[in-house]
Amino acid sequence: MKFETVIGLEVHAQLSTRSKMFCGCSTDYANSPPNTHVCPVCLGMPGVLPKANHKAIEYTIMTALALNCRIPDRTKFDRKNYSYPDLMKGYQISQYDAPIGVGGWMDVEGKRIGIERVHLEEDVAKLIHKGSCTLVDVNRSGIPLMEVVTRPDISTPEEAREFVGRLRIILQYLGVASGNMEEGSLRCDANISIRANGQGFPKVEVKNMNSLSGIYRALEYEERRQREAVEKGEKLVQETRGFSEEGVTFSQRSKEYASDYRYFPEPDIPPLALDRKWVEELRSCLPELPDSKKERLVKEVGLSPYQADLISSQKPLCDYFEICLTENKVKPGEVANWLLGEFSHQINQAGTDPKDCQVRPHMLCELIDLVASGKISGTSGQKVLGEMFQSGRGAEEIVQERGVYQITDEECVRAVACEVISQNQKAVQDFRKGKTQVLTFLVGQVMKKTQGRANPGLTANTLTELLK
Ligand SMILES: [Zn+2]
Repeated sequence: MKFETVIGLEVHAQLSTRSKMFCGCSTDYANSPPNTHVCPVCLGMPGVLPKANHKAIEYTIMTALALNCRIPDRTKFDRKNYSYPDLMKGYQISQYDAPIGVGGWMDVEGKRIGIERVHLEEDVAKLIHKGSCTLVDVNRSGIPLMEVVTRPDISTPEEAREFVGRLRIILQYLGVASGNMEEGSLRCDANISIRANGQGFPKVEVKNMNSLSGIYRALEYEERRQREAVEKGEKLVQETRGFSEEGVTFSQRSKEYASDYRYFPEPDIPPLALDRKWVEELRSCLPELPDSKKERLVKEVGLSPYQADLISSQKPLCDYFEICLTENKVKPGEVANWLLGEFSHQINQAGTDPKDCQVRPHMLCELIDLVASGKISGTSGQKVLGEMFQSGRGAEEIVQERGVYQITDEECVRAVACEVISQNQKAVQDFRKGKTQVLTFLVGQVMKKTQGRANPGLTANTLTELLK
């Protein structure tokens, strides 16, 4: 049978506002004890009145604009009714038929994925299951939650993963969300169905995909499950499925329809007029987005497309890179190599962010300059950088203390080379028999005797000359 896969995504992002969506509680609850960031509004007490967060609406408009959406003149909030213990009021304030952004798109690897809508709602409380008992933490309830809904234009699990990855970078560039999937501030649900020989089958909603690799694995599993079911003549049903870390999806419940939620306009928040002037002001203030950043890094800064792609897709690293460029003494390509190599390795090992690490951009540039000018070798440079990360001291200081200046003095290198030749007569004979690859071994011996400080090019030349 000829199969096609049809995928649509719903991505939820907690917005980085200081206060919650409809009350003044602080959103900075990550390290707080349960139920300490709460008030009568987010606890859903009777008689309280919600007030919409201006910044959250602004962030949603910015995201919608970055995703090429149209911003209607008017928007409104609606009540989505369902009963579940994570919902304090018995309903969630969301947006039903008048979202903030509509009809946009995002290009992913040359393919245009339609954006159906971008809307704003409130996050729900967190349920913690302990044995037979369930605990409710209301701190998360009322956090502004933006939802981006794609059109069913995605045709493979790879494209779905790529889309969410790109969206996350855009949110980070806009500064509207952290996009941290591990902490649950970015979450993704997917609708997936298949077509076989042109005939469509019921769609399945997959939830709990908590990482980019989880999105890929869940959809790959689901695509295979649905195809096998059709091939065996089994009946597929419209349902909601969860995803477990073991890599399988499992049936949770039959899928809800919009009518199950009995949406109606939120009576406590009047519809909002979205002022054109405001929208245009936000449009003109949008920062440079990843695609144009990448293009500029290639065309104006001179990075290779590969370097530009890696740098521009990591916002904190990209910010660091751009500060380094203000130091005139270093070449952009060299900075990029260091950032993507040993620097990233150190950052990952320390589990820190480039903007918080002890090695400031001017310090890294000083080190790069020491290597580029031949004062120390690249290998020593990597070790020095490791020590800079540990101690926060400058490159010059460490180099002086350790005495790792590269040996570029010809007499000095020649003396060590002579010593190595006299101690390795077997290798010398091999070389004279034409086994030129032993040169690498002899260079290694010189390096060993000089603790890696001899200039490698000079060493190779000197050895060749002496052997001949
Ligand atoms: Zn509150």
